[in-house]
Amino acid sequence: MLAKAETLIEALPYFQRYAGCTFVVKYGGHAMGDPEAAKDFAQDIVLLKAVGINPVVVHGGGPQIGAMLKKLGVESTFVDGLRVTDKATAEIAEMVLSGAINKELVGWIAAAGGKALGISGKDGGLVTARKVTRTTKDPDSNIEQAIDLGFVGEPARIDTTILETANKAGIIPIVAPIAAGEDGHTYNINADTMAGAIAAAIGAARLFLLTDVTGVLDKQGKLLTDLTPADIAKLKADGTVAGGMIPKLDTCVQAVEAGCEAAVVLDGRVGHAMLLEFFTSRGAGTLIRKGE
Ligand code: ADP
Ligand code: MG
Repeated sequence: MLAKAETLIEALPYFQRYAGCTFVVKYGGHAMGDPEAAKDFAQDIVLLKAVGINPVVVHGGGPQIGAMLKKLGVESTFVDGLRVTDKATAEIAEMVLSGAINKELVGWIAAAGGKALGISGKDGGLVTARKVTRTTKDPDSNIEQAIDLGFVGEPARIDTTILETANKAGIIPIVAPIAAGEDGHTYNINADTMAGAIAAAIGAARLFLLTDVTGVLDKQGKLLTDLTPADIAKLKADGTVAGGMIPKLDTCVQAVEAGCEAAVVLDGRVGHAMLLEFFTSRGAGTLIRKGE
């Protein structure tokens, strides 16, 4: 009994310090597979809200989109290892992200006793997308060539009104990484990128990125517990971080440079990962802070 009381008291300074603050939490597509972990995650979010913190959840869904494309027999083309999002793929991405996954999370929040609002970047003009332009270098001639990834976007403009309105009403926003472009087309945005842009725009105190690894790992696979933007630049340059970890760390850098106190990459497969990370003196993931 005493241990329980001590655990709660240990969390008290955190409750006091962060009441009224906004936390942006990205729940990764790869971390979402397990219903038990999803339940724990939803309880953590509802607890944050109950102690006066305003969580905003942004979710991914890459693996689920891949599975649905396969089920429906929609073939994808790849350029440089990146999936080209043609019109059919964008429609399926919206269906899976804004439909299935978003509403499933809303349901988990309700089951944990919270109230959630499932939206995408389209709703309330939250995010307006611009088409992503990527280039590749031809190894022979060294000439840069533009690659067309189709309807892949990045946030161009953000209006956080809908999030603030929901927060004030005691409702937790759950955001799918889909947005309309100025051209009216539907764009799929990397969920990490979307979460970082929202965190910066709303002035979040913390950014949590829940994924399927214990954190950022070094070349030997050992967990790196603390990183600064300068460390991250080095890890990118020497190839220690690759793939989906790149947009995650870019997002962390963007968030801390925009004034977010800290960003954390942590293992969403572990039950109550976020709670343990936040309400105890030191969690288990990678903490990113602006260096001195
Ligand atoms: P999510 O669905 O959570 O966005 P991603 O697959 O996009 O997950 O990104 C996480 C992945 O990044 C890890 O599973 C891992 O394969 C990859 N990765 C690349 N470099 C690193 C690194 N240095 N440390 C940890 N993970 C890394
Ligand atoms: Mg990813």
